[in-house]
Amino acid sequence: MEIVSDPRDMQAVSLAWRRLNRRIALVPTMGFFHDGHLSLMRYGREHGDRLVVSLFVNPAQFGPAEDLNRYPRDLERDEARAREAGVDVLYIPAAADMYPEGYQTYVTVEDLSRPMCGASRPGHFRGVATVVLKLFHQVLPHLAIFGEKDYQQLAVIKRLVADLNVPVEVAGRPIVREADGLALSSRNSYLSPEERRSALVLFQALTRARDLAASGEAEAEKILSEVTRIIGSTPGTRLDYAVLVDPRTLTNVDIIRGSARLAMAAWVGGTRLIDNMLLEVN
Ligand code: AMP
Repeated sequence: MEIVSDPRDMQAVSLAWRRLNRRIALVPTMGFFHDGHLSLMRYGREHGDRLVVSLFVNPAQFGPAEDLNRYPRDLERDEARAREAGVDVLYIPAAADMYPEGYQTYVTVEDLSRPMCGASRPGHFRGVATVVLKLFHQVLPHLAIFGEKDYQQLAVIKRLVADLNVPVEVAGRPIVREADGLALSSRNSYLSPEERRSALVLFQALTRARDLAASGEAEAEKILSEVTRIIGSTPGTRLDYAVLVDPRTLTNVDIIRGSARLAMAAWVGGTRLIDNMLLEVN
């Protein structure tokens, strides 16, 4: 496995692969790898000839009061896990190379960036869309793989790629969970043992909603009030938002016809966690 940090070197490596007709897969990450990241790498390994994993904690997607400076990092362990996963290049650009002095170009995917996490984290998806487009230009992948864990992010990137004619295939992959249901996240490392127990309430609320829908409840209001009640009854947790949306447009759904995505964010102590699930009405 090679470690590359200069964007021009990355581009040169990818251009050489492209001349040899190699299919390049990219998994963009912020590091502190867990099994969710590894599942994306496995998919990339299977669907590409060359696998690049980028590791960049992108300042442009963090608000001023957010956790940029304390975001968990363990480069040595990440290197070892990437090597084991069969990664060809671990791409670790420096913030000063990504956003050099004078940098002023940003991409905004307008409507999809506004609700949900976009409402709680102004500017977040502008930072995400910008860095992902930059990574695409640096790594020149044929295939880019993202997790459904960040469901709105995936929708934003699919829209970006369609709207700007970016020649990259985008794959969304299922959420990987702990044995008890908690969605894996680098931010879970912030949780105290007690908070870790409370954090399970997100999954419990989602599965309760899924069961309601499966047994015929199609009214968003009923489902969302149950979700709100469940989160509200767990001490130390606070719901940021819970929405039932069209899986593609992310517009609110009043009555589920067939299926819809339930997405939520909740604070567990000082940690903001997100999760989502597909609801199907029978
Ligand atoms: P991050 O390092 O948190 O920015 O995540 C990098 C990629 O991994 C994103 O596409 C995430 O959606 C994905 N990811 C994070 N957690 C999970 C998970 N539990 N299951 C599947 N994919 C995940």
